[in-house]
Amino acid sequence: MKKFDAVIAGGGVIGGAIALELARAGLRVAVFDRQQPGQEASWASAGILSPAPENPAMIAMVPLGKASLALYPEFIAQVEEISGMGAGFRPKGTLEALFSHDTRAELSTIIALHHGLGLQAEPLRAEDARELEPALSEGVEAAVLRPEEASVDNRALTAALLEAAQRSGAEIFSGNGASAIWRDGKRCAGLLLQNEKVEAKWTIIAAGCFSATIEGIARYAPVRPAKGQMAALRADDLKIERVLWSEKIYLVPRNDGRIVAGATVEHAGFDKRVTAGGIAKILSAAIELAPGLANARIEETWAGLRPDTPDHLPILGPTDLDGLLMATGHFRSGILLTPITAQLVREWITEQRVSVDWERFSPLRFQSAATDAARHAPA
Ligand SMILES: Cc1cc2nc3c(=O)[nH]c(=O)nc-3n(C[C@H](O)[C@H](O)[C@H](O)COP(=O)(O)OP(=O)(O)OC[C@H]3O[C@@H](n4cnc5c(N)ncnc54)[C@H](O)[C@@H]3O)c2cc1C
Repeated sequence: MKKFDAVIAGGGVIGGAIALELARAGLRVAVFDRQQPGQEASWASAGILSPAPENPAMIAMVPLGKASLALYPEFIAQVEEISGMGAGFRPKGTLEALFSHDTRAELSTIIALHHGLGLQAEPLRAEDARELEPALSEGVEAAVLRPEEASVDNRALTAALLEAAQRSGAEIFSGNGASAIWRDGKRCAGLLLQNEKVEAKWTIIAAGCFSATIEGIARYAPVRPAKGQMAALRADDLKIERVLWSEKIYLVPRNDGRIVAGATVEHAGFDKRVTAGGIAKILSAAIELAPGLANARIEETWAGLRPDTPDHLPILGPTDLDGLLMATGHFRSGILLTPITAQLVREWITEQRVSVDWERFSPLRFQSAATDAARHAPA
């Protein structure tokens, strides 16, 4: 029987980063993936690194997002050095374009919200925004620049992370997924794979939106897939420097000249089909934001599955089974949250303490919600 200090179910960006951290801390680590690792959400993503909340529910995640963004430059330098591969990190800020007629009020609300959360944000007049990003539409009335934000080429990052983890001593097994956790009384003793058991002191579930399909996990990580469709465009005569947002879309420039446009948010089960309606929405919003894109070539379209959770917040930390940890449910922010997730898991395993409070993201919160509901239910 294979035996490790730590086993990880799932070889996406999260499992890969945890494997790297733990291997560098001297643990014997293995990642088990049911297919070729790095081909799910971490491949499909846009790679925007923005701790700004997209809706009120995500405000609780801002401190975690800020901590993770702050780790990014060093994290990338380390991954690139160990792997010898580039990760396409672009620390150039992001720019949110406003089309509304009442931009003055909208702008001051957005700026106040950001500053209240300790996030840098600068108001820009339309002409200043277009000077920074000439591709922006004449219809843009004002903009918000978030200078600290960044983007990364998530496909390159995931591949580099897996390589760095391996070079640091982690073992990565493809085509050998977990069917269940191995329960031994109040302890988790490892994973049950398709045809074998693998023993470990620590078991970490990082299987993205598939985590709840592993037997024994749904009570801690009731994740479900949220499909996102995307398109990659190339326009030889149009330059975009920063991530651009409108209310409807984001455009993410890559170092190789591609512009990634996305994304839909659809609860459609594990379906990854690209649809005409989905791509039509993305293209028309992209052209509205940067009209020059009307002449762009469509290089690729795809869809991926975000790991969504009942409260849209990640699921991180220990469970009530000794040795079992969750690192999943990162929904729309898993690329942003990769460095902090890996760091916190490593701190917990090697020091039994964490440097950023993760209680809010506990895997036990769903059980207490279910227990409370049962307690208050009419007899
Ligand atoms: C369209 C789209 C756009 C996005 N944009 C952004 C963005 O701009 N910024 C951002 O921060 N985040 C973004 N995200 C979210 C981010 O991509 C995810 O939160 C992140 O990639 C999740 O990583 P993961 O490693 O948990 O999951 P995944 O990358 O899905 O990896 C899970 C792995 O587990 C494996 N697996 C499945 N079942 C099993 C099993 N039973 N046993 C073992 N292994 C198993 C899978 O094969 C897979 O390799 C986006 C996501 C999508 C889909």
